[in-house]
Amino acid sequence: MTAKILDGKAFAARVRAKVADHVTDLKRVGLVPGLAVVLVGEDPASQVYVRNKGRQTQEAGMKSFEHRLPADTSEAALLDLIGQLNADPAVHGILVQLPLPGHMNADLVINAIDPAKDVDGFHISNVGLLGTGQKAMVPCTPLGCLMLLRDHLGDLSGMEAVVVGRSNIVGKPMAQLLLGENCTVTTAHSRTRDLPEVCRRADILVAAVGRPEMIPGDWIRPGATVIDVGINRVAGADGNNRLVGDVHFDSAAQVAGAITPVPGGVGPMTIACLLANTVTACCRTNRLPEPEGLTA
Ligand code: NDP
Repeated sequence: MTAKILDGKAFAARVRAKVADHVTDLKRVGLVPGLAVVLVGEDPASQVYVRNKGRQTQEAGMKSFEHRLPADTSEAALLDLIGQLNADPAVHGILVQLPLPGHMNADLVINAIDPAKDVDGFHISNVGLLGTGQKAMVPCTPLGCLMLLRDHLGDLSGMEAVVVGRSNIVGKPMAQLLLGENCTVTTAHSRTRDLPEVCRRADILVAAVGRPEMIPGDWIRPGATVIDVGINRVAGADGNNRLVGDVHFDSAAQVAGAITPVPGGVGPMTIACLLANTVTACCRTNRLPEPEGLTA
């Protein structure tokens, strides 16, 4: 079997186009969704993410507010800025780029964001809402995975889903979302016994581990849908770095029914879902109908 490649780049472009259409509709009623991104320090990877987020926010017709603070900013000053953004009616989404410098308590900072503006879905209220099956702001990467799965499989009800990884930003919310779709969900992690056998049960296998090509083709059930969240930089044969996922793509693609590539699979979906969440937040705050197909 040769798997269908789930093209996240093309799908993300369609999501962004849908977001842009919705922004046009909102502008007709005098609303412009606004996303504030706060970056503390000079982490090079974070700077690239923040730049891309700002550019794509503007391309979708939304307002982008960037706040770049020096690495030695006090926690109190950051909390003060978050308070101002919470109170600003032009700001519908707030994202504090992680990781924060070591002298800051990330949980305290994230929980200071107004949950209605928490477009990353990391605020404890949104975590609780998602965990109890209520309407929440959903973390962007798992939301992107869910959109890809729904697009490819349609109804996920009754399927065996295995999520490898239990982080707060990917694994746990992914498992909650799949449970919400009526899958039978197993969350595996570093202490899971006989991981290959657990993976072989999966109709849907989501890998969010951070270990290059850890999951080979013979851990995959024939015909399964494989979502590879991992982004790992490894040295290529030519000495240059290349990106690989947590799944060994070549062997997995011989067995799976469908698979996301790395790069070009889940990665591009994350920012697209951030834009989608900003539009959703704007609609919810203004008690307008939510955009169809852009929420969990
Ligand atoms: P974390 O390091 O926070 O979590 C990794 C998880 O994998 C942990 O739950 C850990 O288990 C589990 N794990 C580690 N080793 C093994 C093993 N040998 N067998 C089974 N499970 C194991 O990572 P994240 O969730 O933040 O990210 C995971 C990957 O996804 C990374 O490659 C990251 O770069 C990528 N990522 C991609 C995004 C995108 O936009 N596409 C966004 C976010 C992340 P335990 O809890 O027991 O330690």
